[in-house]
Amino acid sequence: MTTLQQYKTDLSTNQLIYAPHPNLEKQVFYFQVDKEYRQAVQTHMTTLMRTHNGVGLSANQINLDVAVICQELQGQIVTMFNPQVVHLSADKVLMTEGCLSEPGLFLKIKRPDIVSASWEDVAGNTITETLYGMDARVFLHEFDHLQGIMFTDRVSKPKLDLARKKQKKRMQRAARRLINANG
Ligand SMILES: [Zn+2]
Repeated sequence: MTTLQQYKTDLSTNQLIYAPHPNLEKQVFYFQVDKEYRQAVQTHMTTLMRTHNGVGLSANQINLDVAVICQELQGQIVTMFNPQVVHLSADKVLMTEGCLSEPGLFLKIKRPDIVSASWEDVAGNTITETLYGMDARVFLHEFDHLQGIMFTDRVSKPKLDLARKKQKKRMQRAARRLINANG
């Protein structure tokens, strides 16, 4: 656990980054800071996640070198500071995932169906919860980000190559729609 000696509460320059980017490939650190900083991070990440229509966001996706996850949990956006995996179910399920840092890319990935996780809230209280299904899925995807692991690292090369081809077509179609819409 690192104590942040210098930190800024103005996070306006911390915007969404896209792959490939070195910050998406490095592990961020666990930290101890005051409530003012936590509050600023929570507000900023919640706003960004809404802006980009995401269901989850990790701090390193916005160039922030701290362990924070934002995710929707039962209809509410929850900010998790210093999250930890306590227990993973042996049962794994295959689900399609997307990522804000990889627009248009969708991959079927096998992950545990249930995760028991703990984190600190904005006030520094430790919360422990068991997450199921989609909630567990989003948490594990974002938790991976904090370790510098992208969802593209979790599939075979042939699967990724095929998904990249579909991504390219999808992005080209989206660009054409944009051109048509703009005349
Ligand atoms: Zn992601």
